[in-house]
Amino acid sequence: MAYFDKDIETAPRERLREIQLSRLQKSVTQALKIPFYRDRLNENGISSGEQIKDLSDIRKIPFTTKDDLRASFPEGLLAVSKDEVVRLHTSSGTTGTPTVICHTKNDLNAWAGLVARSMVASGATKSDVFQNMTGYGMFTGGLGMHYGAELVGMTILPMGSGNTRRQLEYMKYFKTTIVHATPSYMLHIATKLEEAQISLSDLCLKKGFLGAEPYSENTRIKIENLFKIDVYNSYGLSEMNGPGVAFECEYKNGMHLWEDAFYLEIIDPETGEPVAEGNSGELVFTTLMREATPLLRYRCRDIASILAGECPCGRTHRRISRITGRADDMLIVNGVNIFPGQIESVIMRHPEVGTNYQILLENKGELEKLTVNIEISAAAFSGDIHSLDRLKAELAEDIKGAVIVRPEVKLHEPGSLPVTEGKAVRVIDNRIRI
Ligand code: ADP
Ligand code: ZN
Repeated sequence: MAYFDKDIETAPRERLREIQLSRLQKSVTQALKIPFYRDRLNENGISSGEQIKDLSDIRKIPFTTKDDLRASFPEGLLAVSKDEVVRLHTSSGTTGTPTVICHTKNDLNAWAGLVARSMVASGATKSDVFQNMTGYGMFTGGLGMHYGAELVGMTILPMGSGNTRRQLEYMKYFKTTIVHATPSYMLHIATKLEEAQISLSDLCLKKGFLGAEPYSENTRIKIENLFKIDVYNSYGLSEMNGPGVAFECEYKNGMHLWEDAFYLEIIDPETGEPVAEGNSGELVFTTLMREATPLLRYRCRDIASILAGECPCGRTHRRISRITGRADDMLIVNGVNIFPGQIESVIMRHPEVGTNYQILLENKGELEKLTVNIEISAAAFSGDIHSLDRLKAELAEDIKGAVIVRPEVKLHEPGSLPVTEGKAVRVIDNRIRI
C-alpha cells in the first residue's frame, strides 16, 4: 500500500484529534482577523482561539452560510493582506451568486498536497499519464487536480473540458492511464468512441477520477463497464479549496475525508442539530489549515453520512458516503419530495439505458407532471418495438417505486439529449408558480 504522507494518513485517531484541536484554535485566531468573523465570534463570547479548549467547543461558534459568503462578494472573507493572496477562485455558481475564496502560497501548497494524497490513495503513481478533462478556469477542478497530479509526478495532459474527439485521440496517442472528468462527461464521451474510430483496445485507460456532481453507484458501475476501468469518487467544493476534500482509496468503499485539513460535522438541515452517528445530513466543514480565507462551520448544503468501520487500506481518516444531493436539490412534485439522484440510481440499473437522461417538470391542469427523458443504448435502440415498450413500462414502474410519483418515460436515441461540458443540468423545471 502506497501513501503520499503515511504519517498523517495513518495517524492514530487520538493524535488526529490533537492535531484537529490545535489547528482549530489557529483557525479561530485567523478568522478573528476578518471583521465579519470578529463581530460574529465576539457576539458569541469568543475573542481568542485559546477559548476553544476541546473539539466540542466548536459548537459555541455560529454557522457560516453560503449567503454569508455571497454577501462578501467580491472581496471575500480575507484574513491576510492582499499582498499575500496569490490566487482566487469562485464557485461554479450552480445555485446563485458565486462565492470567492482567496489563497496564499501556503494555502495552494497544502491544497496540492491533499489532492496528491488523494490520487496516491487510489493507486496512482508517477508512471501514470493523467488527462485532465475539466475546465481550467475559475472552476477549481482543473487547476486543483493539475497541481496535485504534478506533485505526484504524473505526466499531465492539461486538456480542459470539451472537444471530445481530440480528448479521445490524445487518450490514444499519449497512452493516458488516468482521466479526470465529471461522470456526465465520461458517459458522454463513451458514445463518441465509435465516431472517433477508437476502440477500447487502442487505449491504456486504467482509472477515472470522477466528481463535481452527484452520481449513483449504478452509474459508477456503468462507466466502469463502458471503459473497463476503475472509477474513484472525488469530492470537493470551492469553499473548501476544491477537489481533495474526500476521495476514494483503492478499496472504493466511500471517500476518506482528510480530517487533518477539514473538521466535519453532520447536522439535520432543518434543526441545525448533529445527526445520530451514521445518519445522513448536511455536511458542515471547518477549515483547519487555511490562511487567507478560513471558514468556520460552513454549511455546504451537501447531504451525506459517515460510514462505519475501519478501511483495510490503513488510513485512519473516516470515510463519507456518496453525496446524495444538495439540500436545495430537492424537488417537490405534487407535494412529494424527490431527489434527482433517486431517479438516476434506478434507471442506470438497466443495461438498456444509455448515457444521458433529463428530468422535466411541467404543469398539467391543477397538477404537476414529471417526465423522464432517457437515452437508450445503441444495442437497445436497434431492438424491436415491443421490447422498447416493455422497457418504458419497467422504467416508469421503477421510478415510481423510488419516488412515489408516476412519471411519463420517454425513450430517446443515443446522443440525442443535450449535453453540457461542465456539470450536467439534469432538471428542467418549466412549472409556473402562482
Ligand atoms: P457550485 O456549488 O457552484 O457547484 P463548486 O464548483 O464549488 O460550485 O462545486 C462544489 C459542489 O459540487 C459540491 O458542493 C457538491 O454539491 C458537488 N460535488 C462535488 N463533488 C461531488 C461528488 N463527488 N459527488 C457529488 N457531488 C459533488
Ligand atoms: Zn481506504
